[in-house]
Amino acid sequence: MNTKKALHAGWIIPVRPKGQILEKHTLVIEDQKIKSILPTEDWKRRKKSRNMEELDLNSCALIPGFVNTHTHSPMSLLRGVAEDLPFDEWLKNHIWPLEDAFVNKEFVRDGTELSIAEMLLSGTTCFNDMYFFGDETARISIETGIRACIGMIVIQFPSKWASSVDEYFQKGQKIHDDFRNHPLISCAFAPHAPYSIDDQSLARISTLAEELDVQIHMHIQETKEEILQSLEEFGCSPIRRLEKLGLLSSRLTGVHLTEVSEEEINLIAQSGINVAHCPKSNLKLGCGIAPILAMEQKGLNIALGTDGAASNNELDMLGEAKMASLLAKGSNRSATALPAETCLEMATLNGARALGLEDEIGSLEVGKTADIVAIEMGRIDNLPVYNPLVQILYSGNKTQIANVWVSGRQLVKNRRLLTIDEDRLVEKSEKWKKRISDFNQSRSS
Ligand SMILES: [Zn+2]
Repeated sequence: MNTKKALHAGWIIPVRPKGQILEKHTLVIEDQKIKSILPTEDWKRRKKSRNMEELDLNSCALIPGFVNTHTHSPMSLLRGVAEDLPFDEWLKNHIWPLEDAFVNKEFVRDGTELSIAEMLLSGTTCFNDMYFFGDETARISIETGIRACIGMIVIQFPSKWASSVDEYFQKGQKIHDDFRNHPLISCAFAPHAPYSIDDQSLARISTLAEELDVQIHMHIQETKEEILQSLEEFGCSPIRRLEKLGLLSSRLTGVHLTEVSEEEINLIAQSGINVAHCPKSNLKLGCGIAPILAMEQKGLNIALGTDGAASNNELDMLGEAKMASLLAKGSNRSATALPAETCLEMATLNGARALGLEDEIGSLEVGKTADIVAIEMGRIDNLPVYNPLVQILYSGNKTQIANVWVSGRQLVKNRRLLTIDEDRLVEKSEKWKKRISDFNQSRSS
């Protein structure tokens, strides 16, 4: 296989430096890395090696692959199964019983593959996952070629994955040990949420994360009820509790933070945590709008996530970035809030930073790994292109994602998946639909 490639692009948007747009440039990939970025004219003049695959992407803009900083990838099999319900009812009466009945290796494998297919086709090259059977998620990620950060999940109650807290820790660390040397896989502790884990386990995670040098990924203050419950049980908000337990640091990615006071924003800003903003999931579950502009102004690293397909219902990072921008503008009554270049940075480089992968991915820079997306700019719905960066954010959509590379390997070519059999994927999802529908029918009768 030819490991050297030259991508001749109409535009390259490296994300760092922020807002930069390079016109008619060539990006050279060698040994999975970005070897050089230079004007195409210069490349043609200097061209030495003939042993190089060349791609004409003159109508495309190259951007770094999106980093989906929060998802539950196997849950795509539950997409659309429980809709328009209050958060608690949705979670406790629908999602959890279905998970009790169905979650196993096969469910995780098939659901993750479906999500990976959707993520690749919409330009996501790396995802941060929180779910049971993370070893299966790692395996299918490697097979399909996508990059993944696997959650070492910890939750106080038993599941098909682990029957006790100790077993969650044990199995999580085994995933870390088994995959630690794989270039596409990293691991993070994934304590589900403050309300589903006791102090002792949280303190244990804080210590182990330092020892293993891994990130922590956790839902925090998604709903008002969660805060009231914490005040009653622990005498403080979840954020204050995490502070006491030593969890507030740049290792932590707090997901949602929909309900945070000004004082709490100051506290988390000082601690340097990362925020995974999931605007569509928050809206759909009626959880509100996270005060992202205020957090961004305090210097917090804001990344973006889709959450699972059961609460979104799509895993579309470009849609998420656009939603983040529009929500910040609307809710702050400020058209200048979260401009396009900020939202593109949130969807790429900030996500990489939250995952501890900033030196490797998240921007198109020489020496970084070649995780790249080519967006078609020549379509009717994108014309005319005055500025490709604002165009991608405000008139772009996932169907314009034409080509995707992870670690220099092409996984999507002209909107077709190269490592996943789409027909088989349809068959598998139909099979799960039947099983889950039959179960729901027997439950209601
Ligand atoms: Zn979630």
